[in-house]
Amino acid sequence: MNSFTYTRASGVEAAVREKAADEGAKFIAGGTNLLDLMKENVERPTRLLDLNHLPLKAIEAAPDGGLRLGALATNADTAWDEQVQQRYPLLSQAILAGASPQLRNMATNGGNLFQRTRCYYFYDLATPCNKREPGSGCSAIGGYNRIHGILGTSESCIATHPSDMCVGLAALNATVQVTGPNGERTVKFEDFHRLPEDKPELDNTLAPDEIVTAIDLPNEDFSKNFSYLKLRDRQSYAFALVSVAAALQLEGNTIKEARLALGGVAHKPWRDPKAEALLKGQPATEETFRKAAAAVVENAQGYGHNTFKIELAKRAIVRALKQAAEGTQHASDIFTNSNP
Ligand SMILES: Cc1cc2nc3c(=O)[nH]c(=O)nc-3n(C[C@H](O)[C@H](O)[C@H](O)COP(=O)(O)OP(=O)(O)OC[C@H]3O[C@@H](n4cnc5c(N)ncnc54)[C@H](O)[C@@H]3O)c2cc1C
Ligand code: SF4
Repeated sequence: MNSFTYTRASGVEAAVREKAADEGAKFIAGGTNLLDLMKENVERPTRLLDLNHLPLKAIEAAPDGGLRLGALATNADTAWDEQVQQRYPLLSQAILAGASPQLRNMATNGGNLFQRTRCYYFYDLATPCNKREPGSGCSAIGGYNRIHGILGTSESCIATHPSDMCVGLAALNATVQVTGPNGERTVKFEDFHRLPEDKPELDNTLAPDEIVTAIDLPNEDFSKNFSYLKLRDRQSYAFALVSVAAALQLEGNTIKEARLALGGVAHKPWRDPKAEALLKGQPATEETFRKAAAAVVENAQGYGHNTFKIELAKRAIVRALKQAAEGTQHASDIFTNSNP
């Protein structure tokens, strides 16, 4: 690991100023991703700006009647927050599907959005990787790519975004509150992360000196019919091969509103408005769910070892939508006896 200096940020604006003035600086929150990357020499900051003492830990009412999650609230505090469990149980379930209790106690909501891909080659300095070293090539295309993307990939990169929390946030239409040198702005969740195109080194659309201060959940009710289904090689402590966040509003057996987001398949949490439109106004039946699933993978591309993900994603979408429609994932079923 390279040597670096450490500074505690005294305020949001001060942190933004200090970061803008020092190209080698990086913000640190829980450190659960950044420190691993530093130990592997993938990230080499010359200075760490610690955000942990900023007053951004609250989980409180948002201006529109929704819920505002502080960027420095931990993943654990967010998942077990009473309001999150009652009003946004899909998000609780997505967070609890990730990492381990110890990691969730350290990991923050802001840091979760910025976590980097788990592509093996990204971590392996001996191999070419366009994300780590732009222009060097992509070892996963033509290499071992079992965990890689099938949607929105490019010739430069086929990595996936590894977050579970972000898949839940995408389905719930969250927005991200950001402060930068030019003041505050709000970013729609779908515009926060990006596809690799010819610049896979960029995971998101933020400038390096912008700070995420909060994530807002809109005042909408998807608390009855939802499911977060995570399929992985091990039942715990593993990243998703495919995950699906499904949320429905039903009127009798008719779908009034539908949300569908996928993880483990693309460089960003994957939303497909076309598939959601196919669900809306239709009966909540397996036939409807199959049509939506087929639409999601219509343009999917496999790269050999990961081609199985296309069929897996289709089946996972149908299963998650069925679970959501049946209401089997109700908060009281999930959270009883599972608090560590
Ligand atoms: C073994 C292991 C297993 C895991 N399994 C899963 C899993 O199954 N599912 C899952 O979703 N996640 C998983 N994770 C990832 C974990 O959730 C993330 O590491 C964590 O959420 C990152 O948050 P952090 O606060 O520790 O971020 P840090 O490591 O402190 O920071 C990460 C990045 O975010 C930037 N940053 C942090 N906060 C802000 C902010 N407010 N504004 C701007 N930039 C900021 C930092 O500069 C850094 O670049 C796992 C991690 C490990 C180590
Ligand atoms: S998939 Fe992306 S992260 Fe992985 S080796 Fe290729 S360029 Fe690097």
